[in-house]
Amino acid sequence: MSLAEKLAQERRARLAAERLLELKQAELTDANRKLGRHALALTKRIGATQAEIATFRNENEKVKSDLNTANEKVEQAERRLWHSIQAFQDGFAFFDSNSKLIGANTAYLNIFEGVEEVAPGVSYVRILQILTDEGLIDTEELSADAWRAMMTERWMSPAPEATVIRLWNDRYVKLIDQRGFDGDIVSLALDITATVHYEEELRTARERAEAANRAKSAFLANMSHEIRTPMNGVVGMAELLNDTSLTEEQRLYAGTIKNSGEALLVIINDVLDYSKIEAEKLVLNPETFDLEACMHEVVMLLQANARDKGLTLLVDYDLFMPTNFIGDPGRIRQILTNLIGNAVKFTNQGHVTARVTGVPHPEDNTVMLHIAIEDTGIGIPEEKIKHIFGEFNQVEDATNREFEGTGLGLAITERLIKMMDGEIWVESDFGAGSCFGFRLPLVVADGNKVSAPDMPQNLRHVMIVDDMQINREILNRQLQRLGLQVTPVSSGAEALEHMSEDIDLVVTDRNLPGMDGVKLARSLRHDWQDVPVLLLSSDPADMRDLSIQDIFAGVLQKPLPRGALFSALSSLGKPELALPATGPDTGEAAAVAPEPSAECPASDQQDGSHLPRMRVMAAEDNRTNQLVFRKMVKDLNIDLRFANNGQEAVDLYQSFLPDLIFMDISMPKMDGKEATGVIRELEKTAPSRVQIVALTAHAMDGDSEGILAAGLDDYLTKPLRKGLIHERIMNNLPSGAAPLVIERDSSDLRATA
Ligand code: ADP
Repeated sequence: MSLAEKLAQERRARLAAERLLELKQAELTDANRKLGRHALALTKRIGATQAEIATFRNENEKVKSDLNTANEKVEQAERRLWHSIQAFQDGFAFFDSNSKLIGANTAYLNIFEGVEEVAPGVSYVRILQILTDEGLIDTEELSADAWRAMMTERWMSPAPEATVIRLWNDRYVKLIDQRGFDGDIVSLALDITATVHYEEELRTARERAEAANRAKSAFLANMSHEIRTPMNGVVGMAELLNDTSLTEEQRLYAGTIKNSGEALLVIINDVLDYSKIEAEKLVLNPETFDLEACMHEVVMLLQANARDKGLTLLVDYDLFMPTNFIGDPGRIRQILTNLIGNAVKFTNQGHVTARVTGVPHPEDNTVMLHIAIEDTGIGIPEEKIKHIFGEFNQVEDATNREFEGTGLGLAITERLIKMMDGEIWVESDFGAGSCFGFRLPLVVADGNKVSAPDMPQNLRHVMIVDDMQINREILNRQLQRLGLQVTPVSSGAEALEHMSEDIDLVVTDRNLPGMDGVKLARSLRHDWQDVPVLLLSSDPADMRDLSIQDIFAGVLQKPLPRGALFSALSSLGKPELALPATGPDTGEAAAVAPEPSAECPASDQQDGSHLPRMRVMAAEDNRTNQLVFRKMVKDLNIDLRFANNGQEAVDLYQSFLPDLIFMDISMPKMDGKEATGVIRELEKTAPSRVQIVALTAHAMDGDSEGILAAGLDDYLTKPLRKGLIHERIMNNLPSGAAPLVIERDSSDLRATA
């Protein structure tokens, strides 16, 4: 091989080595570059991680400090809570679900008077043991064991009732224990010593006040008796004096004595009633009674006053409402007397109307009665309306000063109504009139269905003649409800003008302007003699006026009770339409002329002298009252004997065998109730039972109940009233006894047996 060739070969080899070197260098550079990039990324990642670590570290620090603050707060709250619990005057303790004490405040621990064992960890049962063993507790009538057993049982119950324990030092602690969800118990021990002592003081004070009140009631009862007994003499004697021949002047004096005595009794009754209600001593005595009759009785008593003042007194009793209810008739009568009496008193012209309506509640057999007393009187100024129901309150102004009264009537009325679950209100137009209304729920008495009267077929159209619009309205409504056609007119002349074939009955008022009811009836006799005429009159004398009897189909007393209207209408079809003979015990007829002492027309039956006289015994210890009684019945044909006390009454009952006994309740030796008891006992072997009517000073504190329970049948309160005594005697006249003639030459009272 030539040199050139060798050189060429070498050059080629060197060139190849150089190319290889270049290649390797390029690879190396590339690898370096990659390595650099990798290192850079790595550095970046390390930087980020370091930053994250720094953040975490910061956060960690913050959490740590927050935790410290929170812990401090919790500790502070716990400290505060504990301080508060410690500051309690009352004991406070917690127990765990195993009834071990967790903690208790000083007040709680103080109960244990320093017994060291009472500390966290002690059990409740052990605490009870310590209380009894150390004599810290007064277990009163229980033994220590029994007391602990009772307290343990209480503690174990799911919701222990609060209980009061008494400590050895006369302190009272009320224990209130509350179970938590996990069985823990929070226990409160409240020191109620002051409250217990205060309650004791109150109890003693109340007992003392009640005793004083009882003494006051007893005093009032006594006083009422003591005042009433002589008043009986005063009023009774004045009444009798009036029956003798007197000069006008003497009659005035006697009348004044009687009126003043009666006025005084009204005041005494008001004061007594009010103090009884105040002392919560007033009891209601519910019984079956006839509300409508009760209203008419009240109105009848006030009728004379109203007539003297020229007032019309009306009762508008819803025609188809029941009349028999269960209630306290005496108290309901008192309410009505107060309200209707006030209306009459404070009205100088116009009318007073008592309206009765009601909403039946069949589900409990009651009726919500709504009774309104309207008047056209002086009215009550707006600002005084609230005031009048207060005790001793009266409207005092020029219009009112002339009226007497105690100012207790409405206060008593309101309370009585409240006692009966009712409500009273008043509306008034000053100068024009007032309306007092009250609501009263009353139970309807059994068998008290209201049925329409059995009216004659041919009675379809009635003419009413009355100058008072309100009268016409009431009667119109009542007759329309019975299905009758009504033509109301306001005078006799108008009546004659409107008379027609169509009219089957005329009902006329007695007092009419121009032509009165009697004259009208006489005129009608000419042209319309087949049309019966009924006369309405508020004067009881008309009931007995024979001169008008034959021109009327009936004379009815105003205000007109429904029974009287019904019976007058149903008797129209019957042949004998003349004035019915009324006696006190003939209910139907009495309703037509419903005066308490309804009397008979004169007739020729005077005889009967051959018959034995009715035997009446009156037991009464007071001589004056005996005298009054004797005088009151002097015109009656009876055999009257007196007993001076209960014992004498029993003896006389056996020897005299009376047909009727009047029995004073308070008498020496043996009182009226006791004497009645003995008589009732003796009577068991006798052929009949004698009626015994009690004479009481005043029905105090459910006296009437006691009287009836003692076997008496009925009672009259003093002062005695001639009319009522006569009524009782007449009601009990045995058949076959001599008539009770009072005056031979008068048409008055006579035998009605
Ligand atoms: P008294 O009638 O004994 O004064 P009340 O308590 O019955 O007492 O009545 C209180 C007052 O209410 C009466 O004095 C009177 O001023 C007023 N008053 C009561 N009823 C009426 C009435 N119908 N019209 C006007 N005023 C009346």
